[in-house]
Amino acid sequence: MDIVLDRKELTKYPFLKESQQLASQHVESLEAFLASSAGNVALERAKERIIAALRFRRDFQDDAARGPGPELEIASYALARIIVSCIGDRTLIDRLARYESDRSSFFLASEEPEVRRFVALRLQIDPDARSMPVTDYVELVARLRDNRWRLVNRDVNRGVVGVEPGEIDELIRERIRTIVADNLPLRVPGGICETLAAVASEITALRQQQALEEFGEIREEAFPPCIASLLQALTAGTNLTHMGRFAITSFLHTIGMNIAQITEIFAQAPDFDPDMTIYQVEHISGRGGTEYTPPSCITMRTFGLCANRDKECERISHPLSYYRLKKSGAKKQV
Ligand code: SF4
Repeated sequence: MDIVLDRKELTKYPFLKESQQLASQHVESLEAFLASSAGNVALERAKERIIAALRFRRDFQDDAARGPGPELEIASYALARIIVSCIGDRTLIDRLARYESDRSSFFLASEEPEVRRFVALRLQIDPDARSMPVTDYVELVARLRDNRWRLVNRDVNRGVVGVEPGEIDELIRERIRTIVADNLPLRVPGGICETLAAVASEITALRQQQALEEFGEIREEAFPPCIASLLQALTAGTNLTHMGRFAITSFLHTIGMNIAQITEIFAQAPDFDPDMTIYQVEHISGRGGTEYTPPSCITMRTFGLCANRDKECERISHPLSYYRLKKSGAKKQV
């Protein structure tokens, strides 16, 4: 059955062709749009999107309802991609792509089956499939870090790869991420970047401030409970799951630990393999071209890694936000 998404629904999936068409009906030229009051509203919202991505905010619940209206909301998605392109910061681009894919996946998870199917098929993924051609699969999982995605660990038969129902959602999220990140940074004309310079420098300043908050002196007492308990388990000689290792590595890397320091921590694991550890830590730290960000609280919960939640956890949706919050609180008390 053919379905048509209404204007409001399209705001949840701004990367769709239909969404882009809706927004472009109202934008004759980018320069004129940016000079208009509507352009200003969309620009503010684009800034909000980037800041949310930068700060790992993942509270999308009211997002669709409180936006500036469908056309401008979708335009703000496109503007956010343009702004990060003008800034040209790889980490920012990566965070925006992950933010947008988490956002759309959040909405998709609660859609009626026919809407979910419609969006997934637009992404060239059959949401009900239990297998897919090897070539499609390999392209989809190229940047996924978990060993379980590797072809050697999959059920491959006559050119098709088996996939579990829950994995399809992960593949859809990954496809959205690659679509958002596609061609970024865009080649934006200099005049447009000049028009966006004030917003770009505001975001750059925030990014620098955040780097100072995240990096700087490492404060173990500000670690979120989940990371603290993973570290405790590691020190006690417990074998951690792959996701547990990934969560620790990406967290410690993001807050400024170097590869040698992280490897030293893993040296306490009972099955410590120095070469393998260095390889994995380097990979997660971005040696392969993608810098992985630590999993959000939702993902940590899904993998059973959200442990010892405390009252600060009520205020955040990402372990890094917890760290920043606690660290800035600790600084104020000094
Ligand atoms: S709520 Fe988030 S920060 Fe707190 S323990 Fe769970 S995963 Fe960690």
